[in-house]
Amino acid sequence: MADYDIAVAGAGIVGMSCALWAQMRGHKVLLIDPEDPGSGTSYGNACTLATYACLPVNDPSVLSSLPSLMFSKDSPLSLSYAHALRNPRWMLSFLANCRAAPARRIAGHLADLLSHADAGINPLIEAASAQDLVVERGQLSVWSTEKAAKAASDGLERRRALGVPWREVDPEAALEMEPGLHLPIRRAVHFHAARSLRDPQEFITRMHRAFASLGGATLRAKAEAVSASGTGVELLAGGQGITANHAVIASGAFSNRIEGAGTRKLPLGTERGYHVMFEDEAHRVTRPVGWGEAGFYAVPHAQGLRLTGTVEIAALDAPMNTRRLAYIARKGAEMLGPLPAPSSEWLGYRPTLPDSLPVIGRSPQSDRVLYAFGHQHIGLTLGGITGRLITDLAEGRQPNVDLAPFAADRSFA
Ligand SMILES: Cc1cc2nc3c(=O)[nH]c(=O)nc-3n(C[C@H](O)[C@H](O)[C@H](O)COP(=O)(O)OP(=O)(O)OC[C@H]3O[C@@H](n4cnc5c(N)ncnc54)[C@H](O)[C@@H]3O)c2cc1C
Repeated sequence: MADYDIAVAGAGIVGMSCALWAQMRGHKVLLIDPEDPGSGTSYGNACTLATYACLPVNDPSVLSSLPSLMFSKDSPLSLSYAHALRNPRWMLSFLANCRAAPARRIAGHLADLLSHADAGINPLIEAASAQDLVVERGQLSVWSTEKAAKAASDGLERRRALGVPWREVDPEAALEMEPGLHLPIRRAVHFHAARSLRDPQEFITRMHRAFASLGGATLRAKAEAVSASGTGVELLAGGQGITANHAVIASGAFSNRIEGAGTRKLPLGTERGYHVMFEDEAHRVTRPVGWGEAGFYAVPHAQGLRLTGTVEIAALDAPMNTRRLAYIARKGAEMLGPLPAPSSEWLGYRPTLPDSLPVIGRSPQSDRVLYAFGHQHIGLTLGGITGRLITDLAEGRQPNVDLAPFAADRSFA
């Protein structure tokens, strides 16, 4: 008999959601991570349950504005050329997926999955007694130039066509909603159905507590290798061999570093993102506010104002890019007026496949190994539903979401 029904490698929002869903369904679960639950990329994000975020970075507008995105010091996107040259397959696939037809297809698949996001996370919020961490004030997106305000129309209409609700807010009303904004506002849109969390790591800590109180076990170690047979899996972690009926690979951007999991050949890359915190300044905004042109959000986090976002395509192991942090702090002052010195700075790793769709499903090599990674900019939003779908698969149930677009053996373009 196996030691566990399910062993989950990774305790970010995705792995923790898989573990808690499975434990709530009565399975014997082991959660494996060398770090505290929720201390990776799931710690430092923009805190938004972004059910509207079905348009990934792959978009035709990226192709048309590539030169200015690449070379302007005011660009929310930056690219390490050395990294791009070392990873031509990922880069070329990513760009190919910016063409109109694949971008439309990808947005449709993400919108489908996002339509189940609340149903995936709400039971976890309840199980973790985390209702007090949830803010129901939507997300406000603003644009400060006529050109960008106009250019936003196409994406907004595509969202509307995919079922995402939003409402236009006139600039004066936007300032009444968020009096701390110092920008000239040319356009504002309220995604009123979105929610946010005051503190994503606190949420995951409470999920972990609920998991433990239901009998879930935790091993503080790195999963080093997995081997599967017809009857189960064996994981090597922290020098021990652990047997389970199923292994779930949910190690975020590091998911292709586990020997034998079959993930090495998948084109998993990372879009690095940053945050800068300002303690005692959380009152500057009352909900996540995104500034379209600048590519980042101002967020009222439990521990202060968090300015967070931007995309840096560079290696996982490359050092922090201080120019990115300076960009966020400088643009933050443009957005909100003068700010004090930051209280902390952070770099995180969005796990991204070149088509910006996550991998959720069985490994092509073994039904016993389940993949749950690659949630790019929306893992906090999609972690809950991913956990439920993975538990369905481990139980041999038919999930109520079509998982074909998220299969590991799809074409990544
Ligand atoms: C700047 C920024 C802003 C963002 N804003 C939002 C937002 O507002 N809304 C949203 O929905 N998403 C947002 N995201 C995206 C979201 O944070 C990620 O998609 C999500 O955190 C990914 O979760 P994860 O569990 O896959 O990875 P992680 O949180 O990185 O967790 C992976 C875990 O695996 C562990 N691990 C690694 N290797 C091993 C191993 N070998 N064995 C065991 N464990 C291992 C790590 O220690 C870590 O704990 C943002 C991301 C960034 C960077």
